[in-house]
Amino acid sequence: MSTKFQRVRGTRDLLPEDNVKFRFVESMAHKLSLLYGYGEIETPIFEFSEVFHRTLGETSDVVSKETYTFSDRGNESLTLRPEGTAGVARAFISEGMAQNLPLKFYYSGPMFRYERPQKGRYRQFQQLGVECLGIDSPLADVESLTLAWDLLTAIGIADKCQLEINTLGDAESRAKYRDALVVYFSQHQDKLSADSKTRLEKNPMRILDSKDEGDRALIANAPEMHNFLNDASRKFFADILKGIENLGIPYKVNQKLVRGLDYYCHTVFEFVTTELGAQGTVLAGGRYDPLIEMMGGPKTPGVGWAAGIDRLSDLVPAEKYQKQEALLAVIPADEAGESAALKVAHQLRLAGFKTEMLISGKMGKRFQKADKMGATHALVLGESEVAAQKIAVKDLKAGSQENLSLSELIAKLK
Ligand code: ATP
Ligand code: MG
Repeated sequence: MSTKFQRVRGTRDLLPEDNVKFRFVESMAHKLSLLYGYGEIETPIFEFSEVFHRTLGETSDVVSKETYTFSDRGNESLTLRPEGTAGVARAFISEGMAQNLPLKFYYSGPMFRYERPQKGRYRQFQQLGVECLGIDSPLADVESLTLAWDLLTAIGIADKCQLEINTLGDAESRAKYRDALVVYFSQHQDKLSADSKTRLEKNPMRILDSKDEGDRALIANAPEMHNFLNDASRKFFADILKGIENLGIPYKVNQKLVRGLDYYCHTVFEFVTTELGAQGTVLAGGRYDPLIEMMGGPKTPGVGWAAGIDRLSDLVPAEKYQKQEALLAVIPADEAGESAALKVAHQLRLAGFKTEMLISGKMGKRFQKADKMGATHALVLGESEVAAQKIAVKDLKAGSQENLSLSELIAKLK
C-alpha cells in the first residue's frame, strides 16, 4: 500500500507565482532598510526554549499554546522561533554588542507557531522586521514607524492599511493601570473566559488582547490606559504623534491596543486592513525597553516591528510585481541547429536577456508557444543559418524577419 504524502497542516508550498510576490515585498523591505541604516541580521531558526519562554511571557498566546518545542538528541529543550525580536536580543547579548550602540537590524525569514490554520494564518509563515536598539528617544519610534509606512507605500498597499497606535506608558503608569484593570475585571470574573481568568491573576493587561467574544464585550467598558499615564509617558506619546503627523502618516489612536507579547512598554502599533478578513493585521510592533535586561543583558532600550510577508503579499497589486521583461525564444529548426541554439541561448543569457529554448513540438506550435509566452523575438537556427553564421530573427510583434549575427542581434536588442 502506498501512502500519499501531504503538506503538514498549516504549512505552504510557495510556488513560483507566490515567490514573485514574496521576493518583491522582501526586496523592497531590504532596500528601504538599508536606506534607513538597518543592517541585515540572520539569527538561527531555533534557540534554547528559554530565549522565548522567558521573554514573550508565560501567559502570552504564543508561549502558552503556540510554540514548537522539542528535545534534541542531546536532551536540550529547543524552540523553533515564533518571532524575531527575542532572537535578535539574544544575539545582541551573546555577541557582546553593547559597546556599539545604537544598532539597527533588519531580518527576514520563517517563523513557527502552532495555530489554528486558516487563510492568512499558518504554522510556518514568513516575517520581515526591524529592530532599533539603544535609543530611548521617541524619535526612534517615529523613524521606525516611518520605515513601516514607506514600505507599505513602496509595495502599493498603504491606502489599504490603517495605522492604529497606543501607549502602554512607563512602568509606573502601567502598574496603576494594572490595578484598575484588576478591580474592574474582578467584578466581572464570572463572565471571563477561562484563559482570561488565568490572565487576571498573572497579567491582567493581556485580557485586552483576548479574541474571546464574551471577553471582548467586557473589554469595551474597561478602564482606558490614558487616564493612568504619568506626565512623562503622556509627553512621550504626544511626541510620537507629533512626529508622525509632521511626516503626514495617518493614524488612529486605539486605547485598547496592547499587543500579544509581554515585553512592550510605551508605544504599540499595528497596521490593519479590512481586505484580508479576520487576519487583518499586516505589520505590528512597538517599544520594548525592558526586554534585553529581562534576558540578562545590559539595560538597553529598543523599538521595532515585524510584518507578515504572507499577508502583505496577498495585498500587493499585480502591476507592482509583474515586470514586463523582454523575452527571447530560441528555436532550433533541425539537428544541425541544436548545438548552435544552445550556444546562442547561453550567450544571450550571459548578456542579460531572458531567454527560453523551445525544443520540442512542431515548428508551428513552437511559434505559437513563443507568442503565448510573450516573447518579442523568435530566433531560429537551422543548417543554413549555422553555415552562414547567422540567426533568423523573427520580430513577433511586427511579423518581419531578418538574418543577423549574434553580435548584430545583441546590438539591436540593446
Ligand atoms: P494575530 O493577532 O493575527 O495573531 P500577532 O499579534 O500574533 O497576530 P505578531 O506576533 O505581532 O502577530 O506578528 C507580526 C505579524 O506577523 C502579524 O501582524 C502578521 O502579519 C504576521 N503573523 C503572525 N502570526 C502569523 C501566522 N500564524 N501566519 C501568518 N502571518 C502571521
Ligand atoms: Mg497570534
